[in-house]
Amino acid sequence: MKIFETHAHYDDEAFDRDRDSLLCEMLGASGIIDFIVNVGASWQGCVDSLKLADQYEKVYAAIGVHPSEVGELSEQDIEWLKNKAVSHSKVLAIGEIGLDYHYDTPSREVQKKWFIEQLKLAKQVCKPVIIHSREACQDTIEILKQEQAMRVGGIVHCYSYSKEAARDFLQMGFYIGIGGVITFKNAKKLVEALEYIPIERIVLETDSPYLAPQPNRGKRNDSRNITFIAERLAQIKGLCAAEVIDKTHENAVKLFGLKHT
Ligand SMILES: [Zn+2]
Repeated sequence: MKIFETHAHYDDEAFDRDRDSLLCEMLGASGIIDFIVNVGASWQGCVDSLKLADQYEKVYAAIGVHPSEVGELSEQDIEWLKNKAVSHSKVLAIGEIGLDYHYDTPSREVQKKWFIEQLKLAKQVCKPVIIHSREACQDTIEILKQEQAMRVGGIVHCYSYSKEAARDFLQMGFYIGIGGVITFKNAKKLVEALEYIPIERIVLETDSPYLAPQPNRGKRNDSRNITFIAERLAQIKGLCAAEVIDKTHENAVKLFGLKHT
């Protein structure tokens, strides 16, 4: 089976020179990628994600505004997102949304307000959410509980928290998104969490063009690098890479409510 890439940003300018040839190669008959979810981070990123989904059969879109980008958001933008989530057939999820206390801009209060608004939107349109949460574990869990996010579920993307926090996310029905960080030498805490998280609840992602795994760390990332992530996860789980690729594909199809192709 081919790979299900649950989180990439092919609208990024890093792909301006070869976007079409790269996507065609990866998604073509001899490519290794089955589906890509292109995730909007800014309002423009959402517009561009929808365009990519229109253009490529195997590219789907998630639309939402990243915590670092919510400073300029208005109620009108939320209405726009809602309309697109309902009317565009290839919107699979609302994201990426969440909290980022590493940069702390805009303020935590502003981030929380728009995180909650976008969670409410996801419940209205009945779509799963893709969560970005950095150095904000407790507040993220509290808000997800308070907003009953388990009604829609989704992915905690680029998981970076402890095994104990994973238990809370799993109890709320969330899947855990695993990317290049798993291949880094200092990933000890993540490895511990992954020993605990069942394979049935893991999905693979790259966050391209960011966070390329070893041995390509520091270079522009693309979805083909998921093979390195699958290999490392296979080691941790005592499986082979093909089993990891199949199982995580099945998980993503289920979570996004896609029909098996
Ligand atoms: Zn991302």
